[in-house]
Amino acid sequence: MADALIGLGGNVGDARLSFARAIPAICGGANAALRARSSDYRTPPWGEPDQPSFINACIAIETPLAPGDLLAVLHDVEQEFGRDRAGETRWGPRTLDLDILAYDDQRIDLPGLTIPHPRWFERAFVLVPLAEIAPDRAIGGQTPRQALAKIVATGITRLPALA
Ligand code: ADP
Ligand code: MG
Repeated sequence: MADALIGLGGNVGDARLSFARAIPAICGGANAALRARSSDYRTPPWGEPDQPSFINACIAIETPLAPGDLLAVLHDVEQEFGRDRAGETRWGPRTLDLDILAYDDQRIDLPGLTIPHPRWFERAFVLVPLAEIAPDRAIGGQTPRQALAKIVATGITRLPALA
């Protein structure tokens, strides 16, 4: 079993509803068990500013899957919730983006899969939800709390839980 951290993001359609459905799709069966879920956060668009704000969250899971198999499951869930990679631009609007931020504290470099996620420690929209559920977890030599202290994290709003 491995402890993995997954980042969720989306800014098309009802992203909070997508998260609410995607999390049980990832964790409902034998693929993974949910250990922690952050709040949802409204975050400023990143990379390409001319698009709606994003919703972001993170989950901690325990999984028997190898990293590549976990990524395949996440891609299936992205697709199930309407993501069309062919029709989107880099850092542009998307219904659901699922990233493996960490897998135990392993370093993995495969074609199409880099863990820890190469930009996890510099993105406020990842660090704020991550610091809520795993502030002191060591990821590639630093913790979310330490990484968050080094960046400017403005414009991020924690959203109340859905009824
Ligand atoms: P981003 O998440 O950076 O906005 P995409 O979701 O479009 O970009 O992902 C592009 C590719 O990144 C995916 O096809 C996937 O193979 C690759 N990738 C590399 N490392 C990871 C990771 N740790 N988690 C998720 N995807 C990853
Ligand atoms: Mg992604």
